[in-house]
Amino acid sequence: MNEQNGASVEDLRNILKGQVLLPGEPGFEAAAASWDLSVRQEVRAVAEIADAHDAAAVVAHARRAGLGVAAQASGHGATTALNGTILVRTGAMRGIEIDADRSVARIEAGARWGEIQAQAARHGLTGLCGSAPVVSATGYLLGGGLSWFGRKHGLAAGSVRAAEIVDAEGVLRRVTQADDPELLWALRGGGGDFALVTALEIDLYPASELYGGRVIWPAARASEVMAAFRRLTADAPDELTAWFTLLNPPPSPDVPEALRGPLATIDVTYLGDPDKGRELTRILDSVPGVLSDGRGPLSPAEVGGICAEPENPTPILYRSELFGEFTEEAAGKLLDAAGHEGIAPLAMLQVRHLGGALARPVDGACGAMAEPYLLGMLGVTFAPELEEAVRARQEEIATALEPHLSGRKPFTFLRSDGAAADAFPAETLARLRDVKRRRDPNGVFRSNFPVSD
Ligand SMILES: Cc1cc2nc3c(=O)[nH]c(=O)nc-3n(C[C@H](O)[C@H](O)[C@H](O)COP(=O)(O)OP(=O)(O)OC[C@H]3O[C@@H](n4cnc5c(N)ncnc54)[C@H](O)[C@@H]3O)c2cc1C
Repeated sequence: MNEQNGASVEDLRNILKGQVLLPGEPGFEAAAASWDLSVRQEVRAVAEIADAHDAAAVVAHARRAGLGVAAQASGHGATTALNGTILVRTGAMRGIEIDADRSVARIEAGARWGEIQAQAARHGLTGLCGSAPVVSATGYLLGGGLSWFGRKHGLAAGSVRAAEIVDAEGVLRRVTQADDPELLWALRGGGGDFALVTALEIDLYPASELYGGRVIWPAARASEVMAAFRRLTADAPDELTAWFTLLNPPPSPDVPEALRGPLATIDVTYLGDPDKGRELTRILDSVPGVLSDGRGPLSPAEVGGICAEPENPTPILYRSELFGEFTEEAAGKLLDAAGHEGIAPLAMLQVRHLGGALARPVDGACGAMAEPYLLGMLGVTFAPELEEAVRARQEEIATALEPHLSGRKPFTFLRSDGAAADAFPAETLARLRDVKRRRDPNGVFRSNFPVSD
């Protein structure tokens, strides 16, 4: 298996402290598999790096051998763009250090949000985490990151103060606004195409008081739940975030009978006094038929549990769209398209309230998210033949809503067959391509959604 310059992937074994697995070897398939089991990643080798020096050694070696490198913590954002690369697994690098006085965390590349939140909570702080505790912070932050607390503090990529990276020459460096604003700009939302990140330094935010939880109704109440959601979000303060969801849960004996049917839910967080949060969400009490009400004071460590999203590897097809407007007409069309007949074969359809500080531009490739609401549609594709049906249902709903959509898609929520061009305005994409050409002229780094053609 000789590559260029007499360098081969097998040589990596003599160079790294971590494990190297090659196709055909025991353990390779499991090591190459991503969290999203709907994507089969066919990579040249998997390097499970032990530390930043391993990361630098892989990049230097790949450069010599003329191979690409793709970093991945867990594979929540898996795509086949990684095929043919050396897959660098960062899962062993999970260190988290909190500097409570400065409200800053240094997180290693494989650290997951659940672990970061647990540590930040001890100091009454929170990161700009998303909904799932098992998603790793690095991929999420490099992609922009839509957080529970984004309406108050903006896109999560804006919380990245500094990055420890390996550059395309295989050199370890620290990137800050002062010494390399161009690269920091690209790392704040432009994805994994510019460097191999070994650690990030991120801002944390006060959260000693926090309120939230999930309220559940039968899906038959979807129209009333949607009406309450629209009123709740119409004049919500930036501290309040609410998401409307239709759920089609898979049958499970562990779930109480009443919660097994199609459901409508509203998930909320309020970053502040729990009594105020209760008061602000009182409108939800007016919708009859509540099956379960999980609202209450929360620790930042508990936020990842609100949506009860799948934690184990799962085959998913997630399609997201952004609403340019979410009028009564748009909400009505959504319910017509998805609510009355049920959402099958989708497992989930969600409308997230955005706005607030998310619309404020970050000095980074993620820019601003001006759209006021996001639509997410998720299908679980345990049987391959389900894929087509899920895609068709997503298309049908998106088509019904088309006049109300902006046409842009959020980078972290691109479907596995999506492209960077779907997420970035043309001038941002052009700037990212320019950074890519200058920082990685040989194309060593391969993002799950490459910025180049
Ligand atoms: C259940 C679930 C819930 C989610 N909730 C949210 C949410 O609330 N908000 C939101 O914005 N997104 C959310 N996402 C999307 C998620 O943020 C993206 O899938 C993101 O890419 C996941 O990052 P990861 O590192 O876990 O995934 P990975 O697949 O491991 O990484 C994704 C990509 O990030 C880049 N990358 C990762 N690590 C490195 C590194 N060390 N150096 C350089 N590049 C790297 C690579 O390009 C890689 O292909 C959710 C996804 C799932 C499955």
